Amino acid sequence: MGKIICKKCNIEAKEVVLDSYEYEEGISLKKVKAYECPKCEEFIFTEEQVEEMERRTDMIKSEMFAFNRKVTISGRSLVINIPEDLVKHMNILKGKTVKIIPAGKKRFIVEI
Ligand SMILES: [Zn+2]
Repeated sequence: MGKIICKKCNIEAKEVVLDSYEYEEGISLKKVKAYECPKCEEFIFTEEQVEEMERRTDMIKSEMFAFNRKVTISGRSLVINIPEDLVKHMNILKGKTVKIIPAGKKRFIVEI
């Protein structure tokens, strides 16, 4: 494989393995191969590396189970009902405090 050059700095980028990288927001991949410019520290991905990330992201997405729920209103708050299967699966109990973490403009994570 030829040398990977950072176009901004015009120097050779070094091959690195990233502990975790989100190719798509909210879907974190572990041990991702990339190149890093030693000067500007920007990551550079080869075409093969991008394809690999796409493949792995698609795999994770297909394994996620998803539910569609309508947003309803209770008092002044908006409410999303949690499906019963998920309640059982995650052992969510009434009164339990969960953490809501925004992940971009179209997604949030509820941490139990
Ligand atoms: Zn650079």
